[in-house]
Amino acid sequence: MPLSCYAAAMKLTDTSLKDVVSQSRRIVFFTGAGLSTESGIPDFRSPGGLWSRMKPIQFQDFLTSDTVRQESWRRRFSGENTIKLAQPNVGHKVIAKLINSGQASSVITQNIDNLHQESGIEDSDNRVIELHGNATYAKCLDCDEHYEMDQLEQQYKSLGSVPDCSSCGGIIKTATISFGQSMPEKEMQRAQRESLACDLFIVLGSSLVVYPAASFPEIARRNGANLVIINREATPLDNIADLVIHEEIGACLSTLSWDF
Ligand code: NAD
Ligand code: ZN
Repeated sequence: MPLSCYAAAMKLTDTSLKDVVSQSRRIVFFTGAGLSTESGIPDFRSPGGLWSRMKPIQFQDFLTSDTVRQESWRRRFSGENTIKLAQPNVGHKVIAKLINSGQASSVITQNIDNLHQESGIEDSDNRVIELHGNATYAKCLDCDEHYEMDQLEQQYKSLGSVPDCSSCGGIIKTATISFGQSMPEKEMQRAQRESLACDLFIVLGSSLVVYPAASFPEIARRNGANLVIINREATPLDNIADLVIHEEIGACLSTLSWDF
């Protein structure tokens, strides 16, 4: 039975989520900031989320202004480092379990918190596709030299700024994709391939308003995969999904009745 029958004709229950998952052979997950709120990292758009507290820094401004660069490091190193303190939650662990069992092939993530890698996914270099980079380390924008955050934080605290790359003099930046920065080509291609190859695409905790990332559920659905969206509030793609669950992710995935 096509899943759309479930969505149209039945009250959607957690049992139907379980059925859909167990009937699928190649699942791809797509995760947003909502997956990590239960690990204590605020999302962008919920009330009290990051956007209500500070305006994002545009890539062009970061490149052209030393003041803006130092402001971005100030934000990074002031206050509590929520990302460093966070631990994977039940949602991350369910994803890891399904990937390690071979039933799911990968997770495409908009998150920058490294929690998928920390959740026990084997071969995470190939299974985790980061569309917006990773905030737990930094890179030189010119030569790609890798920098540990702890080292940069020490330099920031002793010198009052983060110096330029010691290898080539280029600008060092957290390894995330900022507003106005090009999307990473290789990751975009991998995400496209995975979206086309799956039979079930599950969105977890994304408002699905950030493009091009939000195009992947559309690509998968158009190519014939079933689309499930689990998010506590409505998204613009609910109308094309086969199953929509407006619930907390942890509570919803816990009902898949695995032991965590
Ligand atoms: P978003 O903030 O736009 O949307 C998150 C969605 O998750 C919201 O619709 C919210 O209602 C829902 N949500 C929050 N907690 C939930 C829960 N426990 N259960 C169910 N739903 C829940 O996030 P986005 O779509 O990922 O886009 C924001 C951008 O911000 C991303 O591109 C990402 O790079 C970045 N970001 C990342 C992190 C992180 O790495 N953890 C945190 C904040 C922002
Ligand atoms: Zn360099």
